[in-house]
Amino acid sequence: MLLHELEKYTGQLLQIDRFKDYAPNGVQIEGRATITRIVCGVSASEALIDAAIEQHADAILVHHGYFWRGEDPRLLGAKRRRIAKLLAHNISLLAYHLPLDAHAELGNNAQLGRRLGLAADSRFGEQDLGWAGTLPSETTLGEFAQLIEAQLGRTPLVIGDPARTIARVGWCTGGAQGYFPDAIAAGCDAYLTGEASEQHYHVAMESGVAFIAAGHHATERYGVQALAAHLADQFGLTQHYVDLPNPI
Ligand SMILES: [Zn+2]
Repeated sequence: MLLHELEKYTGQLLQIDRFKDYAPNGVQIEGRATITRIVCGVSASEALIDAAIEQHADAILVHHGYFWRGEDPRLLGAKRRRIAKLLAHNISLLAYHLPLDAHAELGNNAQLGRRLGLAADSRFGEQDLGWAGTLPSETTLGEFAQLIEAQLGRTPLVIGDPARTIARVGWCTGGAQGYFPDAIAAGCDAYLTGEASEQHYHVAMESGVAFIAAGHHATERYGVQALAAHLADQFGLTQHYVDLPNPI
């Protein structure tokens, strides 16, 4: 299919115009006009580009692309190398950031929630990116942490009494630790995100609301896979997810 048609369809599917984002959503680097094979991953690192070259991909689909607001715009060093490789191999880069966090079925929050038995019944935080829902059965914080570990293959950082019973969980994948106060205000018993900041230890201890950081990469692996699978189904494309482990 044509790159610009894929971009148009995906932009409408993810309602990219609804979001104020920190980077462009859609085609960030234009490669060949026709797409049959997609490689997807969480971040457009050089290792992901190398994998795409090896697999003769026409396009790379990621959650974390390039051209972030406030970054140095010059093409130097590692950034030059990445972009030079994409251009040399005529591979397009498509990136979807906040719209891919937020999509009701294919998004990172939806896909993570599904793995943890959570469905959202309310939203909180900036641009309603935080989701909240009630666990299907009474669970202790320790049991919930074990479920996260089993599903994500990674031991989460958990601040709170593991014996405490939790029912309402707020979550937002990635670097959304800043929404912890919003989750508390929304009445959550625990808040799950990817990364942690120092002050959230104290906020958790003093509020009695548990804080869980399960990894930025680990919590954001699923949206891009769901999106790539959907696009492949819809248009008869080949897609392959490349997991490049990241401890953060
Ligand atoms: Zn992210």
